[in-house]
Amino acid sequence: MFSPPAYQQHLARPYRKALLNALLIITFFSGLLFAWINFGRDNFIVAVAELVMATYSITLFFIVRQTQRVEFWAMAYLFPFFSIMMVAMAAPKSTVNIFIWIFLIPIVAHLLVGRIKGLGLTLLYIGIAAAIFFHRFGDDPEMMEPVILANIGVLTLCLIAFSHVYEITREQSEQRLTRQAHSDPLTQLPNRAHLQSRFDHERLRHQRLASPMSLVLLDLDFFKRINDTHGHAAGDKALQYFANLMRTAVRQTDLVARMGGEEFCLLLPDTNADQAFVVAEKIRHKLARAALDLEGTPVTLTVSGGIAQLGAGGDTLDALTRSADEKLYKAKATGRNRIMS
Ligand code: GH3
Ligand code: MG
Ligand code: MG
Repeated sequence: MFSPPAYQQHLARPYRKALLNALLIITFFSGLLFAWINFGRDNFIVAVAELVMATYSITLFFIVRQTQRVEFWAMAYLFPFFSIMMVAMAAPKSTVNIFIWIFLIPIVAHLLVGRIKGLGLTLLYIGIAAAIFFHRFGDDPEMMEPVILANIGVLTLCLIAFSHVYEITREQSEQRLTRQAHSDPLTQLPNRAHLQSRFDHERLRHQRLASPMSLVLLDLDFFKRINDTHGHAAGDKALQYFANLMRTAVRQTDLVARMGGEEFCLLLPDTNADQAFVVAEKIRHKLARAALDLEGTPVTLTVSGGIAQLGAGGDTLDALTRSADEKLYKAKATGRNRIMS
């Protein structure tokens, strides 16, 4: 089973943007509300900090609506937001109730910046909050009651653990969905959508390093006959067999994709058309040499192929595919079981 490569794993996550926007709006209004309350109680430092945070939040709200760098701006929000929380906790005039806010830290941090950075932020700010708590109330025997400390400690640990475990399972589901959207269920090969994103990535690399890249289209010969003679399930088995054969015949850095039906594609980085021809011929020979066992009947499959090299054969995936398809058509027209370059 292939995994989407690393360059696909920073895909913009729309739910994070929506969540950040919601938090910014809530922070704006609650900042104004708490500033008003704290001005009334002559708690000026905290009131001004809350006003600054409200202004900052509404500014970020308009920036976030237009950006793709959600994680960067989430960090730009979380650091001051949590820091002001700490200032409020340290202010002599604020009451012990303010410490309730630490329960928000693990949830917000994990949801906005993921499990690793989220856990880092959580441990940092809960650590600071704990230090402030003991500094302020360490001498107060009522606050140092073991039952109070145990309540706060256990609840905080639960929230950290739940947020972290939730984020791990969410990331796993996200990766599974991405993998499914990029792979073909029958052969487990990458599909056309994956080929397109890998092609875009490889083309940039190719331009930078000026190395060649080739694309090979492979289409099984007379495949309809396999279905007609042996049934659709046997046809499926033959497709899986061919997929495995190709997978083991190419390098780790090559991509084998299923384009649809009985048509497949090899994307070969650092490979010119002559070298691609050798690879395609190797696959063609291997397939034609060994008979496949379909419900007790030995069946020999053959394949035809067309090759196009990036540059001479076109600069986009569409153009390259079209060019390889023309060669494939010629291979079919001139007798099949052959590769045309
Ligand atoms: P040619 O040599 O010209 O390529 O002939 P062909 O019979 O391979 O080509 P054609 O396009 O006429 O038929 C392709 C066949 O592939 C028809 C279709 O039923 C079969 N096919 C496409 N997808 C699948 C699949 O997922 N499973 C099975 N079993 N068959 C499939
Ligand atoms: Mg065919
Ligand atoms: Mg076909």
